[in-house]
Amino acid sequence: MTLDITTSASESPRSEAEVSEILVNPGFGTHFTDHMFTVEWTHEKGWHDARITPYGPLSMDPASAVLHYAQETFEGMKAYRHEDGSIWSFRPYENAKRMARSSHRLAFPVLDPEDFVQAVDALVAVDQRWVPEGTGEKSLYIRPFMIASEVFLGVRPAQHVTFMVIASPAGAYFKGGIKPLTLWLTEEYTRAGRGGMGAAKTGGNYASSLVAQQEATAHGCDQVVFLDVAEGKYVEELGGMNMYFVYADGHIVTPETGTILEGITRSAIIDLAQKRGHSVEERKISIDEWREGVASGEITEVFACGTAAVVTPVGTLRWDGGEVAGSTEAGPLTLEIRQALVDIQYGRADDSFGWMHRITER
Ligand SMILES: *Cc1c(COP(=O)(O)O)cnc(C)c1O
Repeated sequence: MTLDITTSASESPRSEAEVSEILVNPGFGTHFTDHMFTVEWTHEKGWHDARITPYGPLSMDPASAVLHYAQETFEGMKAYRHEDGSIWSFRPYENAKRMARSSHRLAFPVLDPEDFVQAVDALVAVDQRWVPEGTGEKSLYIRPFMIASEVFLGVRPAQHVTFMVIASPAGAYFKGGIKPLTLWLTEEYTRAGRGGMGAAKTGGNYASSLVAQQEATAHGCDQVVFLDVAEGKYVEELGGMNMYFVYADGHIVTPETGTILEGITRSAIIDLAQKRGHSVEERKISIDEWREGVASGEITEVFACGTAAVVTPVGTLRWDGGEVAGSTEAGPLTLEIRQALVDIQYGRADDSFGWMHRITER
């Protein structure tokens, strides 16, 4: 707790009735809470002027560096309401440390992980009535982000940086049952190469994924799979989710880190699977191993994971000229791991890994 946060409360917060109505069916990323958190950085002052203010538009100079050179990094996390009314986040220091790593890659100053967590906790506490009941897997999605706010068109690491946190209630990712995704294998576009930004959570990676996602949609697929840049042969990840493969003998493979985003869900699943007696290999897995494994039955389940969807089964893999049809139902281990994770997040299972962080009492 090193930030000195001032709070100016909104004079026109949403009414209780409006909030309740939004929380019935919050969707994703369209409704925002009454407040936002901001802290700024300059060389002279370091991080300063931490504040919670009413949520609203930013006034920005058109020459702000982020608008031109994409010096930006963000995080995605959730606050969960437990049955007793208390509010918790999941491994927030992992998000904070990842933002510090992304900051290094994007030549930003680092925000101390303690300050990051303090900022998130403070905003959630102020806007706690926006955290939905945990039933139906609703949550408050939290979006911390850092931008180059310096007004300057020269190319250099920004001398003025702004870190903000906003929050948005989120409904269950799957409405009407958990259904496997159909994936499109892009052979044209890649995500990140050695030395690139693949491991940083930055808007640029998403900007570069959009055209591939369009290609996926045009082919009737839900999401796109990226292969490695060097050989165009090894599975990396989806636009915003990591991947897992379950083999008939019970062992599990997930692509190794380096050029992929180091998902916190991905890392939790390694622990959950190992606790259940599965051996987990972090290694390269080629697209041929996937295609042939599913066709021969050696790979029995494929799933993707990330904060938004938690764990989502993968069915068919399609590419230019062919497809391998996967299961039309979620596999048993996919569902078991998903349930185990969700139960910890919503306080229905013992938090034996110490992953949960309490934000409010009730
Ligand atoms: C955020 C993200 C993920 C998932 O990470 P989690 O910490 O599990 O939410 C996976 N891939 C990419 C590219 C991401 O940006």
